[in-house]
Amino acid sequence: MIVMKFGGSSVADAGRIRHVAGIVETQVKRKPVLILSAMGDTTDHLLGAADTAVKTGIVSIGSIEELHAKTIQELRLPEAIEKGLQQEITPLLDELRSLLVGISLIREITNRTKDYLVSFGERLSVRIMAAYFNAIHIKAQAFDAWDMGFLSDSNFSSAWLLKESWDLIPAKVLPVIESGVLPVVTGFIAREKSGAVTTLGRGGSDLTATVIAVACKAEEVQVWKDVDGILTADPRLVPEAKPLEEVTYEEAAELAYFGAQVLHPRAMQPCTKTGTPVLVKNSYNPQAPGTRIVSSVQKKGPIRAISTRKNVTLIDIVSTRMLGQYGFLEKVFSNFARFGISVDMVATSEVSVSVTLDTANDLDAVKAELSQIATVEIKKGRAIVTIIGDVNRSSEILQRAFGVCENLGVQVQMISQGASKVNISFIVNDTQADDVVKGLHRNFFGEPHEDPYKKQG
Ligand code: ASP
Ligand code: MG
Repeated sequence: MIVMKFGGSSVADAGRIRHVAGIVETQVKRKPVLILSAMGDTTDHLLGAADTAVKTGIVSIGSIEELHAKTIQELRLPEAIEKGLQQEITPLLDELRSLLVGISLIREITNRTKDYLVSFGERLSVRIMAAYFNAIHIKAQAFDAWDMGFLSDSNFSSAWLLKESWDLIPAKVLPVIESGVLPVVTGFIAREKSGAVTTLGRGGSDLTATVIAVACKAEEVQVWKDVDGILTADPRLVPEAKPLEEVTYEEAAELAYFGAQVLHPRAMQPCTKTGTPVLVKNSYNPQAPGTRIVSSVQKKGPIRAISTRKNVTLIDIVSTRMLGQYGFLEKVFSNFARFGISVDMVATSEVSVSVTLDTANDLDAVKAELSQIATVEIKKGRAIVTIIGDVNRSSEILQRAFGVCENLGVQVQMISQGASKVNISFIVNDTQADDVVKGLHRNFFGEPHEDPYKKQG
């Protein structure tokens, strides 16, 4: 069997759904399990509707209802199938509306309620897709992830799956496949023991896909996106960026964590145990070979890819007790832990430590605590530039990278070479990050080729 995962933009409307069905059809013999995200930007729209309900008390899900209704209409399903689909969709939309009414009355929302709310996106998309398969005579059935064994802890908004899931999932999934039915499963969501809906974090459908693949010992996972695989840089920033033929799980995870929005950072983890290959493909360009993510690859050149994560806060913490205070780092990090703040990059000296975090964190309380043992300086508006490269050539990489920064007149404010050994990251001002990435790409991957046919002047 194989696992095929399609993201929101791949199932954004009736045309895209037909197209996805076409891609799946060519591989039906390989016994696929399908994992879907919510249609288009539905997750964002649901969160937006919650925000509106909290702030204004108004319930507005018109655009979400319209998108799903229009899609169903445009799929022109046979009457019986459409009727069956409506019978499944209508109660879901009613439940969603009631939930939003509730939120609009209480005027507040917890992560628990948010997870319940966004789950409707995936629950709607899988039902529509399964109906379409049945319409084109591919026997399919929609499943909510909890009916396929996805049991998680109660860490709402970024839940972890419980150990039991690893046995439950194959026990649920494999019989469906063996009966000749194509399972269409919601990505992103799960349930905790008491039955409340949880989510695996934004972009979590990738993780759903790799978990099913590893639990069911699938031959491969295909992750269908709207780009030609994992690229050497963000193509919106560097138009000459090229897809990579192969990367390792480690490299893919580092890239995901440090800003390349290709895959969920945790999605590679299950595969490292089994070596299950993950193929990143472009649903808009299925002929393109895509990127294969595997355990180890042959290195070509000093670096593989560059990414950037913006809107980062840098904190310099200097001990007021002077040299050699053991326990200083422990105090610093236990404070972050206590406030549930996760740190991305760390650099230390004898008396100081610098860390970076996401700007969304509220730092007042942790600053007050830390100020008892250190002077604390908070610098917002920074960006992390990450180079994924060959650690055996780190001196060369650093030399060239700093040369690029120097030529651009950019001051590097902190640097760290990750323990994962594939990651070299440094901090610059947010406003300079794009130029640095472009400069690095030119330096390591060459100037963009001139198009000889391009019209002059
Ligand atoms: N629909 C969810 C999101 O937008 C999950 C996913 O797309 O993987 O984050
Ligand atoms: Mg999405």
